[in-house]
Amino acid sequence: MASYEMVVGLEVHAQLATESKLFCSCPTDGFGATPNSRICPVCTGQPGVLPVLNRRAAELAFRAAAALGCRIAPVSIFARKNYFYPDLPKAYQISQYELPFSEHGGLEIRDKEGHTQRVRIHRIHMEEDAGKLLHAVGAEKLDYSLVDFNRAGTPLVEIVSEPDIRSSDEAYAYLTALKEILQYAGVSGCNMEKGEMRCDANVSLRPAGTEKFGTRAEIKNLNSFHNVKLALDYEFARQAEILDSGGRVVQETRLWDAERGATASMRSKEEAHDYRYFPDPDLLPLHADAAWVERVKASVPELPAQRRARLAAEFGLSDYDAEVLTAERALGDFFLEANPERGSAKTLANFITTELQGKLNSENIPIEEIPIKPLQLCSLVGLTNTGIISSKGAKEIFSEMWKTGKDPKELVQELGLAQVSDEGQIKAWIQEALAANPKAAEDLRGGKERAAGSIVGAVMKLSKGKANPALVNRLIKEAVKA
Ligand code: ADP
Ligand code: MG
Ligand code: ZN
Repeated sequence: MASYEMVVGLEVHAQLATESKLFCSCPTDGFGATPNSRICPVCTGQPGVLPVLNRRAAELAFRAAAALGCRIAPVSIFARKNYFYPDLPKAYQISQYELPFSEHGGLEIRDKEGHTQRVRIHRIHMEEDAGKLLHAVGAEKLDYSLVDFNRAGTPLVEIVSEPDIRSSDEAYAYLTALKEILQYAGVSGCNMEKGEMRCDANVSLRPAGTEKFGTRAEIKNLNSFHNVKLALDYEFARQAEILDSGGRVVQETRLWDAERGATASMRSKEEAHDYRYFPDPDLLPLHADAAWVERVKASVPELPAQRRARLAAEFGLSDYDAEVLTAERALGDFFLEANPERGSAKTLANFITTELQGKLNSENIPIEEIPIKPLQLCSLVGLTNTGIISSKGAKEIFSEMWKTGKDPKELVQELGLAQVSDEGQIKAWIQEALAANPKAAEDLRGGKERAAGSIVGAVMKLSKGKANPALVNRLIKEAVKA
């Protein structure tokens, strides 16, 4: 058996986060809405209508290109991609072909060990989405098909990578990095369940150590990153078996069947000439005015990789913390708005990634809607760091802040959670505890440090749990030495 290397190129469709469609003013919020409630003569391809490009869609598409380091073309052309399918009312899709609006970019992917590697992007073009066929209503299977045009005309960018990906893990990492960038840049929500991000995977094998690419299969119907990984692993085994037995892989389009965990042939791969592309005479060439392009570039915010570097440099956070805090832009925004001192950044990061994240998950609400302000959380962490409250008390206060939005300082008083850090008071409790536990006291004086536990416990009891534990420990040591 020869050993093979996997070669993968991904084509990702991302829905641009506009309010209206690409060439008409129908809203794009059709997901889950009554079928055909978001349609008009333009997006249903009625005779005599004319498309008008949505400026906001172009802006977001160009921003995607800028965020992915792509060259932006001064002029690009919309083209008709002709094919017949019942979900495509015009019998052509408006896309870009010969002159896409951007080319030649790339992004960095990271593996589990933190090694980075660049995957080049071949091109990005804009296009409209098609409608959707329904073959069932609820649980009832139909012996005919219905069509919903709510999605028809939804603005998309198609991002085509170079075949630079060499494993299913790298494919997963690429998709994760791409999604982060598009979300950070505000280009797309990338919600795969809503069809806002979709991926086709092209995969071929070549004998390890050789240059020449093998024949590829294109896999469609991949509705999660996890399925992309599974489908690529499946294809690797399938193609390796064909090659091992002296056969040839055919170039074709295959569908991933998540239930069976296998790909199956759908059709032989169509070639560009099958689509009879030609420039759409209804749309003007898109001229990217230099000043406008500059403005769009300037609108790209800090991206995840830059932010991770900044969290490490400015706040001294570990790679792991920086990673967790940047997985979602809003979480990192929350941290940065809290503007912690370098010294308390680590505690704040921990609080956000455990307590806060836990609550967000269990209550399933977005961080923008919680009653706690970033500065309030920072002040809560400050109260723990200075020993005013215990970490247990902090959690109690946090729950109360979540419910009431009240200030932590106010809640310390209200809930009576302030720790006692008065040395005189603590010393008095220690003396009382030593007197009440003569055996432990004797052991301690004799150097048996383990005996401290029962004295600490007794002090905590006397103080009703409010003595500052760090102080108690130190003062017990002093008391038995003296
Ligand atoms: P098409 O237009 O037919 O889909 P492209 O040349 O645009 O073909 O390539 C589509 C995708 O396939 C790109 O992401 C590219 O990187 C990838 N690709 C091309 N050749 C190969 C190959 N031999 N093995 C794996 N991926 C490939
Ligand atoms: Mg393609
Ligand atoms: Zn419309």
